[in-house]
Amino acid sequence: MQINGQARITFCSNDYLGLANHPRLVAALQQGAARWGVGAGAAHLVNGHFEPHSELEFLLADWLAVPRALLLSTGYMANLAVVGGLVGRGDTVIADKLNHASLNDAAKLSGATLLRYRHADMNDARRQLMRAEGVKMILTDGVFSMDGDVAPLSTLMALAEEFDAWLVVDDAHGFGVWGGAGRGSLAQLGLTCRGVPDYLLQVGTLGKAFGSAGAFIAGAAQPIEVIMQRARSYVFTTAQPPALAFATQTSLRLVQAGDDLRAAWRARVEQFKQGMPAGWRLMASDTPIQPVLIGASSAALAAAQSLAQAGFWVPAIRPPTVPAGSARLRVTFSAAHTVDHVAALLTALANLPRVDG
Ligand SMILES: *Cc1c(COP(=O)(O)O)cnc(C)c1O
Repeated sequence: MQINGQARITFCSNDYLGLANHPRLVAALQQGAARWGVGAGAAHLVNGHFEPHSELEFLLADWLAVPRALLLSTGYMANLAVVGGLVGRGDTVIADKLNHASLNDAAKLSGATLLRYRHADMNDARRQLMRAEGVKMILTDGVFSMDGDVAPLSTLMALAEEFDAWLVVDDAHGFGVWGGAGRGSLAQLGLTCRGVPDYLLQVGTLGKAFGSAGAFIAGAAQPIEVIMQRARSYVFTTAQPPALAFATQTSLRLVQAGDDLRAAWRARVEQFKQGMPAGWRLMASDTPIQPVLIGASSAALAAAQSLAQAGFWVPAIRPPTVPAGSARLRVTFSAAHTVDHVAALLTALANLPRVDG
């Protein structure tokens, strides 16, 4: 990227497959605009729902082998929709403490009681489920956005079955990134090979590995229909531009055929882990999200600033985005990075004064 005229190599984007600037995607958006114009003009339920929206929903559902997918304008809105559409006052949301802010906001806005369990602690999740009243909904990130680790999805599925709860997996950082044909974390763990159960709803954003914008909720037909009819972030907002839905169909095809892109980010992550200079602490992650744990916010900021001077854009992520005392450099990798980019980052880290939180 060019920042005020200065070149920086970015290690903070969620464009994991490097699709955001893919020539086929750019061409598809231009074609889409030539055919459908720019704005949708109204909400989906008025006259803003165009053929490319329907086609994209059909293709997403087909890709994930579920009956239905619903397209929303952003992942934030998809989370408001899936929670607010299915639970309300008198119901209970059971949520991982490190979930993305949009899931927390969705739970609060829904009016349901919010019970949070310690990160990935399944005994604590069970305790919260035993206290839960009304309709129960378990909420989790698939890949946690600031740590890069993966939720204990198999146990969460067992708990959802046992307690007759909805399970919502927000796989913003899993779709496209891994799993067969990029089908995400559940596929990566082999949990959907015998079909996707009706209690399971998957949320994906199209603004990350897809290199586009928008989001979807995918699952059984009945809950998706209820969400479509009731969710305020679907009903009361302008539909995403049809040209974008058209372009995203190309990005889905690139994701499905993207085994080489997935191999590329994996190779860069491996190179980074192997070459990490002594004295720096990585977190337990096998995803493109590779946080370098520092501790104090001031130390993390200083490290980010030194890296900026060396020509890199790596953000310091600090509380309240992450728990107190766990400020970090959130380094993310993309298929668009080269071996040289990663080697240069490793050299820059080796040359930084050792920061200690
Ligand atoms: C980015 C993100 C979102 C929000 O998606 P947008 O499409 O950017 O609104 C939701 N959940 C998680 C886990 C995310 O990382």
